[in-house]
Amino acid sequence: MNHSPLFYQAGTALPEVSHADGVRLWDAHGHEYLDGCAGAIACNLGHGRRDIRDAMLAQLDRVAFTYRTQFENAPAVALGRALVELTAGQLDKVFFVSSGSEAVESALKLARQYFVARGETQRRRFVSLRPSYHGSTLGALGVTGYRPLEAAFDALITASLKVAGPDFYRHGDADDASHVDRVLAETRQAIEAAGPESIVAFVLEPIGGASTGARVLGQRYLQGIRALCDEFGCLLILDEVLTGVGRTGDWFAYQHYAITPDLLATAKGLGAGYYPVGALLARTDIVDAVMAAGGFQHGHTYAGNPLACATGLAVIEAMQRENVLDNVAARGRELEAGLAVLQARFPWLGDVRGRGLLWGVELVADPDTKAPFPAEENRFARITALARAEGLLIYPRRTLDGVAGDHFLVAPPLTIGADDTAELLERLSRALVRFDREVAAPASA
Ligand code: PMP
Repeated sequence: MNHSPLFYQAGTALPEVSHADGVRLWDAHGHEYLDGCAGAIACNLGHGRRDIRDAMLAQLDRVAFTYRTQFENAPAVALGRALVELTAGQLDKVFFVSSGSEAVESALKLARQYFVARGETQRRRFVSLRPSYHGSTLGALGVTGYRPLEAAFDALITASLKVAGPDFYRHGDADDASHVDRVLAETRQAIEAAGPESIVAFVLEPIGGASTGARVLGQRYLQGIRALCDEFGCLLILDEVLTGVGRTGDWFAYQHYAITPDLLATAKGLGAGYYPVGALLARTDIVDAVMAAGGFQHGHTYAGNPLACATGLAVIEAMQRENVLDNVAARGRELEAGLAVLQARFPWLGDVRGRGLLWGVELVADPDTKAPFPAEENRFARITALARAEGLLIYPRRTLDGVAGDHFLVAPPLTIGADDTAELLERLSRALVRFDREVAAPASA
């Protein structure tokens, strides 16, 4: 009988963590876990960092909370400057929040207010991808393309126009360029049918997160979407809540693709699990237009509090000091190579995709047709349990909307070393052997 008042864990009996250090956590029974997914792809620097703790304590000793209309907030200004520098000044205004959902929500509202300020009030609709995940608040849910989360709220949300992004695993193959061009042409048609003058912004994750299992959209597609936004006069909002702050090997994933967004939402890795902090980054002229028209009608009490911003600043400074992006590149190559070996070994391991230290692994019932396992078999939960039994945490997702199979993310802290990367792959390999034996039951067995 579970007496916990926490209803989000109903029915499950999870062990308590006794302590954590680097890429490892230990539960109260003494079991050790290698954190192969940085919690929820958030603990980017690993656990138990003294430098982050010290920076937080120093800020706590000064002041934990000040309100933005009452005092200048030095940590917020410093973190804002640091973030702008990470975009090489391409996005030079920052609005702080406490979560990814709030960052996306803020982007949607700032974009709409921009067009209201310009007198283009007919722009009231967003375009986004299916599948996608942009957060749990009602606005962010409106642009999210993931039926299990949307269904109960259809009557409450303003749903965006949903379009399909490229899917190189199922449709690319021989000619990726023509696949992308076809997808872009379909997107153009959908926007033209809806009325381009009604669109506020296109919202997308430059590399998918949990919803798509790290689906990579690629340069041709992203540049195509940028061009469509320019042609139709709407904004491009990138959701880098998961990919931002180093996860894919550059500070932001868009920097791989020679495009610039108009607005960018980031969160998770910015606080690196030490404290909630997220940010909306924006082009100056967008912010100026909104401010000139009376200001941004939006805000949260805890947004950009000094403790949050001191934490975010300590995270970025640690990453710069330790050249963490170089480590992401080196460990990313090792992970990619190791996952390719596993893929060659297990036919039901359909696709491995990603970049940097963000890798998605998709399971399929039939490698030839790429048909997913039936949803009711909950393979995603089984593989997660087997990995856990081998002392490895991975981040799972059930098969979705008939467009992708069960999948999981491998996305360890960005500071993981070479030995631990090898250990991660070894534990994953053992879990996959058990999955193969216990549940996949291949015809040849
Ligand atoms: N956008 C993306 C791409 C995400 O991965 C997430 C979190 N998984 C969110 C938005 C929402 O962030 P949060 O859970 O911090 O509200």
